[in-house]
Amino acid sequence: MISQKMLQLGKQASVIRTISEYGAKRKKEIGAENVYDFSLGNPSIPAPDSIGKAIAELVAEMDPCQLHGYTSSAGDMGVRSAIAQSVRERFGFEADPAMIYMTCGAAASLTCSLHALLNAGDEVVVPAPFFPEYRVFVEKAGGVLVPVLCHQPSFQLDLEAMEAAINEKTKVVMLNSPNNPTGAVYSEESLQALCAILEKKETELGTEIYLLCDEPYRELYYGKGTLPWLPNLYDRTVVAYSYSKSLSLPGERIGYILVSPRMENAGDVFAAVCGAGRSLGFVCAPSLWQRVIAKCLGETANVEEYRENCRILSEALTEQGYTVTPPEGAFYLFVKSPEEDANVFCEKAKKYELLLVPSDSFGVKGFVRIAYCVSRKTITDSIPAFRRLMEEYK
Ligand code: PLP
Repeated sequence: MISQKMLQLGKQASVIRTISEYGAKRKKEIGAENVYDFSLGNPSIPAPDSIGKAIAELVAEMDPCQLHGYTSSAGDMGVRSAIAQSVRERFGFEADPAMIYMTCGAAASLTCSLHALLNAGDEVVVPAPFFPEYRVFVEKAGGVLVPVLCHQPSFQLDLEAMEAAINEKTKVVMLNSPNNPTGAVYSEESLQALCAILEKKETELGTEIYLLCDEPYRELYYGKGTLPWLPNLYDRTVVAYSYSKSLSLPGERIGYILVSPRMENAGDVFAAVCGAGRSLGFVCAPSLWQRVIAKCLGETANVEEYRENCRILSEALTEQGYTVTPPEGAFYLFVKSPEEDANVFCEKAKKYELLLVPSDSFGVKGFVRIAYCVSRKTITDSIPAFRRLMEEYK
């Protein structure tokens, strides 16, 4: 018999994918311009021009066997050094290239990190709402996901609840800010307070608690300045980074894991990451793409486009009577469902060709996620459809 667990995972597409596939079918039936597909977090802004330029330069200048050949399992050392240098400049943090592992995007960064850190039965505390694949990643690594509901409607961390959830089985606390699906950015004060709690709990329980920061949306931030860099606040931090959203390269599968050299067992943690990469087959991340991003460090796709989509849609929906928590980053609006069951609401929305994702799989009920990484035309054309949908509730 084949693996029943994998069979089940393969057959049961995620809710997001199911809606997006329905969208693809519907677009063929009635024309793409008539479907308002807010299902998928697929960047709508093109990658910066420098990406194409970097590819052309690399193809012209590098020996093809080297450019398209295997790098070392953890990635090309020149690329890892360039990333470490960029981290030093941006966050004043002494990153060590020998503690950076190149991966195929955030999904691989997370699965490798979790496999490196978890033993069977270890618990992973995660603020809810959260990216639904976390459950799949944590369980595959032998862990148990422990969701802790955030405060509503701000979707900021509930520190008391987080503290209460941490026990001797807690190995990892996983954070994602700016957050998918809420767009919330956890405040610096709350992150400092959380790190103090983790230090206190480590001492009290005599255990190791790792902070795993899932950061694909770091640069998609609408506030001022730079977001806190968690390795500066807590020594036992592992960063799972990806260029999928910041450089609009989700299909190219490129990112990295950074193990903070400040933790006393950093060498072992990094070796375990290498072991996890080896056992999962995530070795030698795409060679061309490693070198492309090394040439484009510090660049970001034009986030202003998302900010404007967000402003237009938030204002329109609020005016129509929807309850919207203003997001501070990423490219999602998290909107209260006007009826208790968000699944029923999303089905009704389909009548108006609005494709929204119910919040249940994100670990909280009664909301919908609207991925506004779509064209400006889709945003403006969808507004009357949202109005007609709301009229059903008046
Ligand atoms: N983590 C979060 C919070 C995400 O939203 C996503 C993708 O949408 C991922 C991880 C996976 O990102 P990647 O495409 O880089 O694997």
